Amino acid sequence: MAESKRDYYEVLGVQKNASDDEIKKAFRGLAKKYHPDMHPGDKTAEAKFKEAQEAYAVLSDAEKRRQYDQFGHAAFEGGMGGGGFDFSGMDMSDIFGDIFGDFFGGRSRGNSNGPRRGANLRASVHISFEEACFGCEKEIELTLKDECQSCHGTGAKPGTSPETCGKCGGKGKVVYSTQSFFGTMQNVSTCPDCGGSGKVVKEKCPDCRGTGYIASRKRISVSIPPGIDNGQSVRIREKGEPGINNGPRGDLLVEVIVKNHPIFQRQDMDIFSTAPISYAQAALGGEIRINTIDGDILYEVKPGTQTDSRIRLKGKGVPSLRNKNVRGDHYVTLIVQVPTGLGEKAKQLLRDFDYETGDSLHKQNGAVGNNKKKGFKFK
Ligand SMILES: [Zn+2]
Ligand SMILES: [Zn+2]
Repeated sequence: MAESKRDYYEVLGVQKNASDDEIKKAFRGLAKKYHPDMHPGDKTAEAKFKEAQEAYAVLSDAEKRRQYDQFGHAAFEGGMGGGGFDFSGMDMSDIFGDIFGDFFGGRSRGNSNGPRRGANLRASVHISFEEACFGCEKEIELTLKDECQSCHGTGAKPGTSPETCGKCGGKGKVVYSTQSFFGTMQNVSTCPDCGGSGKVVKEKCPDCRGTGYIASRKRISVSIPPGIDNGQSVRIREKGEPGINNGPRGDLLVEVIVKNHPIFQRQDMDIFSTAPISYAQAALGGEIRINTIDGDILYEVKPGTQTDSRIRLKGKGVPSLRNKNVRGDHYVTLIVQVPTGLGEKAKQLLRDFDYETGDSLHKQNGAVGNNKKKGFKFK
C-alpha cells in the first residue's frame, strides 16, 4: 500500500527543501482547486483533496516532516488504524480560516453598517491649450445624489422610521452553517434582507422611493491650476456619491482634456513650435515676430541662420503645476521659406544673385565648379 502512494512533495508540487510558507501556499492552492464543497459529488476532486491534505498534515509539521524525509511513507504505517490518517493533532483553523475568508464573505470584514465613505465620481472637462498653461475656472454639469429631504436619507416614509432588521438583528451580516467535508462550517455573509445596512424599511418614502437619495443635475465649478496637462485630474473633495450611514461623501475627479493647439505642441513644461523666416532674413539677419503663449515677441535672427535652426526662449514654456513662477522653455524651429510664384523682376534678381554668389555657395556645399562655367541654364 505504501508503494502506491505518491510522494508528499510531489503531491504538493514543491521541492524537497521547500520552506513552510511554500508548503502552505502550495496546499492553499490545491485546497481551493479541489475543495469538495466546490465539486459536489466529484470523487476525483475529493481524492485529490484528501491526498493534498494528508501531504500537508505531514509536511507542515516539523517533526512529522523529519520522519517522512528519513523513512518515507513507512514512517506513518501502523498506528494510523484502518489506513486512514490522523489529523487530530493538526490545527487546520488557521489555513482554512484563510481559505474560507477568500471563498466567502471576503468583503464582510469590519463593521458593514458603520459609516462608510461614498464612492468617487468621475467627470471630464475640455479646455484650451492656453487655459491649461495659465489655469482657469470651469463649470461642469453632472447628476449628483443628495440625501432625500423628506426622509433624511432613511428611505422610510415620513412619520415612520426604519426598523432593525429581524434577520440579522441589525448586524448587517448573517452567519450560516453548512455541512462540508470537514464537518460543520460557519460562514458569514451580507444579510440578504437588509443588504448589510442592518435596517429594513417597511413603508418606503414616496419621494425617493425608499432609496434615501434624490438625484439632480448640478453645476459644479472646477478650479483648474496653471500647468495642468492633458489626462490629469482635478480632485474636488466631497462632491462624489453620498456616504453611507453618515459617512463622508466621495470625491469628484475631473479629468482635464486639453485641445490641440494649431501652432504649439507641448511636452511636459516645454513648448515647441516653428516659425517661417524669409531667405533674406535668414541670410541677412533681422527682427522677426514669434508667437508665444504670452503673445507675440520680437526676436533678432542672426545673419547666416540655416533652416531648421532651433532657438530657445527661456522661461516662455508652461508653468510648473507645483509653482506657477517656475516655467519651462519654448523652443522655436526656424524654417527658411523658399519663395514661390516669383514675379519677373524677383526672378531676375535671384538669377543675378546666384550668378554673384554661386561659386562660393557651391564650394561651401562641397560641390565643384560654377554654374555659369558649366553652362547651367535657369528657366
Ligand atoms: Zn426619501
Ligand atoms: Zn439584515
